[in-house]
Amino acid sequence: MYSSRTSAIQELVVLLTTLLEDPAQPSAPSAQPPPNYEDILASIQRVSHELIPETPLSTMFHDGQVHDPLGGGAYAFQNDIVAPVLRALLNDEMPCATPVETGNPTRKIFVHAGLQPNNSPHMGTIVVFCLVFAFAQAIRGRMLATAAAGGDAPPPVAVLITFVDTAPVKDQGVKLKGIHYQRSYRDVPDALGRYMADYQEVLRFLSLWSGVPFSVAVQSDLFSNPVMPSLVNYMISQRAILGPQLSPKYGSLAIRAACPIPGCGLVEKHGRLNEYQAGDDNQYGSITFHCPVHGSHTVRLSRSEEVARLEANTPTRNLLRSMSHLLDTSAHHIRVTGSDYTGMYQETLLYRPLAAWSGITGLASGRTPHILYAPLITDWSGAKLSKSLYVRDGAYGFMKLLGTGAFCSYAQLRDRFGADNGEGVRKVWEEVQRWVEDPKKLFRTFSLAYLQRVILHNNLAQ
Ligand SMILES: [Zn+2]
Repeated sequence: MYSSRTSAIQELVVLLTTLLEDPAQPSAPSAQPPPNYEDILASIQRVSHELIPETPLSTMFHDGQVHDPLGGGAYAFQNDIVAPVLRALLNDEMPCATPVETGNPTRKIFVHAGLQPNNSPHMGTIVVFCLVFAFAQAIRGRMLATAAAGGDAPPPVAVLITFVDTAPVKDQGVKLKGIHYQRSYRDVPDALGRYMADYQEVLRFLSLWSGVPFSVAVQSDLFSNPVMPSLVNYMISQRAILGPQLSPKYGSLAIRAACPIPGCGLVEKHGRLNEYQAGDDNQYGSITFHCPVHGSHTVRLSRSEEVARLEANTPTRNLLRSMSHLLDTSAHHIRVTGSDYTGMYQETLLYRPLAAWSGITGLASGRTPHILYAPLITDWSGAKLSKSLYVRDGAYGFMKLLGTGAFCSYAQLRDRFGADNGEGVRKVWEEVQRWVEDPKKLFRTFSLAYLQRVILHNNLAQ
């Protein structure tokens, strides 16, 4: 009895044989009925499923046509995404005056992105980096054009990349009595340094091609900001509301600090055991953290060097960073992040707490953050190509089989295209530049199949 693999192949061979022309009579009208393409394609699918028994693969057919339908953001920003952002920056400089429609901002402009350094740059991270530099390049170009037309000289534009060196190191976490503890990258130097050269390489290429300078920062730079003690103090005072708002799962503020005992570095991940001592009008409060081995340790918000030890989970960090940006009257800040953070995430975890903060304190009145969202790269089902799954579970092994392994990380992209001139990243960079030039493309996702054609095969039906 034949195996199912052999049966599937035989079935396809029979179907394909009906398509073969008779070499003796190449132009003779066929006596056969017209080919049944539906059966043939279904048979190809069966063969692909049986071809590699240990990794059954599915086939997806498409016509190679690319559509960028309008709607929502794609419709609103169809013609231009640079001018609306520049206009918003300009008006941030004069919040009490009549809105200004033309001219250049005067304050230096930073375009930001962040990353967790837990693998060689993932395709999603590379896309975000490309958008950061492409947008910085675009707003600088627009301001230079304004200056050439008689406007003010433009301010400097720079990219700032922040390493989330407080992200958890794989296999360094532990759960005790239902409480999660982790060790952060900055407390495990070998882990932190492992992929740093890859990040530097990608950033250097993008800076070179765009002509936009960049600098890098780490979490202690964020918490060393002089406004941070007062912002954390505000969060402590509002923790009854902010805890459940920022952490629907645990209801606690995920502000944390690593155990300071040398060689320990354990951090209570969700801040569930934190004890808060509220300050008063004259003095900031403090936070006592819990190490499962060495007991409690305290950070006093009146001591800037102690505040620099603080860490925060993503929503808490997002809020604190946005507050600090809104309070900065010396520079503008534009954030680029993945589209998985758009919508309810930002509305619930960022904009609502910001509105409450502004209402209570009177700070940053009428101001909101400037955020651009990078399109997600999706798999066949429409789910984003997840860095977490790739790093944690070794998912996406099939991508190697399909020839798209280069999209898993920069290291693999470099292997595919060669190390010398960043050719793989350059192809992504050129594609992302097209999105900024035609901004409706920024309001959609791009599939692996699309990137495979554009980046790997230079082959796209338009
Ligand atoms: Zn400890």
